[in-house]
Amino acid sequence: MHLPPFLPGLAAALVLVTNAFGAALCDDFYARLPNVSRALCESAQLQASAARSVKGRIIYTRDLGPVAAPLRVLVVGAMHGDELSSASLALHWLRLAQLEAAPVHWRFIPALNPDGLFGRPARRMNANGVDLNRNFPTPNWARESVVYWEKKVRKDPRRWPGKSALSEPESKFLFDQMKSFRPDLVVSIHAPYGVLDFDGPVRPPTRIGRLHLEQLGVFPGSLGNYGGLQQGMPVVTIELANALRTPTNAEIHRMWRDLQQWIGQTISPAGTRQAAR
Ligand SMILES: [Zn+2]
Repeated sequence: MHLPPFLPGLAAALVLVTNAFGAALCDDFYARLPNVSRALCESAQLQASAARSVKGRIIYTRDLGPVAAPLRVLVVGAMHGDELSSASLALHWLRLAQLEAAPVHWRFIPALNPDGLFGRPARRMNANGVDLNRNFPTPNWARESVVYWEKKVRKDPRRWPGKSALSEPESKFLFDQMKSFRPDLVVSIHAPYGVLDFDGPVRPPTRIGRLHLEQLGVFPGSLGNYGGLQQGMPVVTIELANALRTPTNAEIHRMWRDLQQWIGQTISPAGTRQAAR
């Protein structure tokens, strides 16, 4: 078969553009994230999704493992932009997922809130000042999120839930991912409380690495409330002990192993579906 003469050139140009994007992203990640080398970022081969942040930054994802795997797991970092270590941990775990052949279809979103992450200074909220982890459509969101914000956290601007549920492109993107990818488990990485939190219909992990289970409560509009309690989709929330420093690489490995072990023992697609009915 003869290709039209311009096609190889076009393909080469596309590769160049893609590489340039990846390199620029990895420069940014390298400059901002603790314990992330350019090589680690480049090996992640993050792909641009169609989603953009409020300021037009691309939200990157990476899928790994067989598409027809019996388990689907979604891993999300940097929903809060000033929790830098959460994006680092997602990239390290992505690397570990590349090295093994578990029957899992992984989807990683290392930085859900790139405007917060790359802000100067980095900040928790997105560019509209919304706490994305209060923007998911839980029951009575309009009433409860206002009560929570005005009474419980005394209008703390770091916890503003937004004007309406899913008002933000970043939370809408994650919501759409949960609908289309239909994960059996969501792992949401945060910092700096140094605990493990869980919402959902199955037995929680008691420990992941040094983090022990300590359920922090249910908040209107949170991902755990929406996914774990409303959708019956287990949500493990990793609260790292430090937002600016990752655990050691040995601890990152240990946490990954503990997570795998708990997934193997607890999460079965049939079980999750049944519990969700
Ligand atoms: Zn957080």
